[in-house]
Amino acid sequence: MANYKITLLKGDGIGPEIVNQAVKVLDKAAEKFGFGVEYDEALLGGCAIDATGVPLPDETVAKCKASDSVILGAVGGPKWDTLPGNKRPEAGLLGIRGALGLFANLRPSVIFGPLKSASPIKDDIIGDNMDIMIVRELTGGIYFGERGRKEVEGQPAAWDTEMYTVPEIERIARVAFDLAMKRNKKLTSVDKANVLESSRLWRETVINVSKDYPEVELNHMYVDNCAMQLVRNPKQFDVIVTSNIFGDILSDEASMIAGSIGMLASASLSEGKLGLYEPIHGSAPDIAGLGIANPLATILSVAMMLRYSLNQPKAAEAIEAAVAKTLETNRTPDIYEDGMNKVSCEEMGDLVCAAL
Ligand code: NAD
Repeated sequence: MANYKITLLKGDGIGPEIVNQAVKVLDKAAEKFGFGVEYDEALLGGCAIDATGVPLPDETVAKCKASDSVILGAVGGPKWDTLPGNKRPEAGLLGIRGALGLFANLRPSVIFGPLKSASPIKDDIIGDNMDIMIVRELTGGIYFGERGRKEVEGQPAAWDTEMYTVPEIERIARVAFDLAMKRNKKLTSVDKANVLESSRLWRETVINVSKDYPEVELNHMYVDNCAMQLVRNPKQFDVIVTSNIFGDILSDEASMIAGSIGMLASASLSEGKLGLYEPIHGSAPDIAGLGIANPLATILSVAMMLRYSLNQPKAAEAIEAAVAKTLETNRTPDIYEDGMNKVSCEEMGDLVCAAL
């Protein structure tokens, strides 16, 4: 029987509440599909700052590296907002991505049928089953490039650098082409090649990689156009691949099209099997401890982990189906609609387990 070691980074705010529900669902899936899961917990973010003085203790990196996969809740909160940049909880997030070599961020933007009305986009534009996968490069580009402050003509100024190497572009492109092969064989590469040299290299490299994937229909789109097309006609997209900064912005836009931030999962993958799986939302300090957080994004992140890191695709599908079924009649307050059964974070976890 396969036995997986999972590190839990519950984090801050609603992090612990939502991760506890995801663990419950994973345990249920393990029982049903005949695999074992062992958990270890480690500190990241504000809770790590409080306990150790740093947002990413070495012990956390070591535990994550020794595991098959990592589940993260969320980090951050007003308590730590006044700390300098490199000491803040979010520095822990960037740090763990770098330390684990998580270069590919996968963000599905999916509308579950019963939640269609949560989308701000008109029904006829979204269609019946919007399902976009954004693949964002996560460890390169302007967020990691050289930066600094200087004086220009006597005035304070600041600069950041966008740089990509060919191997960095190739490996993220391969992740995207591989995903496209498993989906509808359609890939859109997003860049700003009309202006940026780094984007011109991006485009050339993606075209070169495409020669290994003759079945995938590849097109290119400028990022400004893509931002517009996502709300104008989201159905045209299947898999989108793009750089760190463009992916950051476009994936947030795509997630709003799906309607509810409490529903959206993500995966960050390394070159091996190890991945980090987390909801896209933050630590929601405004509702932390009230027991009303929506745990479904974290539960759906567990489904992604089963699919992309643990090779248990049947368990992944079963969790996604259980979430869809549960949503037919049950809602946490953030996605509540008249006529539905209003449930707490814990009840939602229990209902998904029951539906499994
Ligand atoms: P947020 O995502 O935490 O919250 C935005 C709004 O959405 C809030 O009203 C919140 O109550 C609601 N919300 C979020 N998740 C929800 C859920 N599961 N169920 C119900 N409602 C939910 O974003 P924010 O308020 O901008 O940031 C709060 C803190 O989280 C900040 O410290 C920020 O830096 C941090 N943050 C962390 C991550 C991460 O850990 N990956 C991501 C984004 C923000």
